[in-house]
Amino acid sequence: MGQEEIRRHNVGTLLRHVHLGGSVSRTVLTERMRLNRSTIMALIAELAGAGLVREELPPGTGRAGRPSLVVRPESGRVYVLAFDVAVDRLVAARVALGGGVVERREAVRPRAGADLDRVVEVLARFGRQLYRTAPRDSVCVGVGASYCGMIRPGDGMVRFGPDMGWVDQAFGAELGRRLGIGLPVSVGNEAHLGALAEQRRGAGTGLRNLIYLHGDVGVGGGIIVGGKLLDGDSGYGCELGHMVVNPYDGRACGCGSHGCLEAEVGERALLDAAGRPAESFGRDAVRAVVDDADRGDPVAQAALEHIGDWLGIGVANLCNLFNPGMVIFGGTLREMYPGAAAQVRARIAANVLPVARERVRLRVSALGDDATLVGAAELGFSDLLADPLGVLARTAS
Ligand SMILES: [Zn+2]
Repeated sequence: MGQEEIRRHNVGTLLRHVHLGGSVSRTVLTERMRLNRSTIMALIAELAGAGLVREELPPGTGRAGRPSLVVRPESGRVYVLAFDVAVDRLVAARVALGGGVVERREAVRPRAGADLDRVVEVLARFGRQLYRTAPRDSVCVGVGASYCGMIRPGDGMVRFGPDMGWVDQAFGAELGRRLGIGLPVSVGNEAHLGALAEQRRGAGTGLRNLIYLHGDVGVGGGIIVGGKLLDGDSGYGCELGHMVVNPYDGRACGCGSHGCLEAEVGERALLDAAGRPAESFGRDAVRAVVDDADRGDPVAQAALEHIGDWLGIGVANLCNLFNPGMVIFGGTLREMYPGAAAQVRARIAANVLPVARERVRLRVSALGDDATLVGAAELGFSDLLADPLGVLARTAS
């Protein structure tokens, strides 16, 4: 790396620490980055000069002694627009540097067929409102979006959205065009982004190896190995939901196969196991089963246990393959997991090699319904964190 590259890397790394830490002292930055104090101070000065961070006394500091200044993100000034397209809802938010959701808009998404036009129309309208109402001296440094389907890296083309019938829909390009704020839209798969969010700000903060399972109509996944999201050769990896767990008499899956994990543990599988009619669907219907189980309804309890066994088989395979430090259950699985945990644990005990399971922890998502939105915001911040001063010069001009 040349001098300039090293400096850009250090500026980005420091901003990342402040963005994720919220408020970090000079001393901690010096320790974490293993640079000397004067280099750290020069980097802080550069970022402060660009309006990305500020230094201040920690709250509650009295006059006595010489307290160490803390570095904070300029959350009131720097933000991204984040979008979340789930099966049943559309969310848009302004997310500040530092990760706080400042303002949000939300709409219900009907379960219709391919609806690119409506989805983009609603999100672009929300996005323009959020952009217009942002403080005058603030700057939008990126746009990130989460979509419940398989996304082509680079241009945000939805290659395959099995639950809504989307095939090769130019979602990212179309949203960018209709937003009309001169910024491209980075799009990621919802479960990939959920994994990223949980690793940066949620249940798996700081872990280098974790697996995130996201339940919606189906089941998506994100696998983080050595601190990096596993993407595959074309960016379509981590389709944990289509791991075959029941090939002989498995339920039909939306992908055309049979016995996929999501066919056995997805929304329909739970509702069928609980004896709910075909007309009942959606997150409320899933919640109703979970609530009934909590109240002691044996049919609902048995349905969750049945799902838990299949879920456990999937998780056991993943533990043997990846030896994760944590498996996190998000989306509707967050609600289903507690009633299914005993079966999942039993499968892990029975099917995972002892040395591969001795440290794995099982948790529900700490970010809840916002995991995918938070992940989209992190995607929106990624260019800024790679080259803070360069991106700011481009977006502010
Ligand atoms: Zn499938």
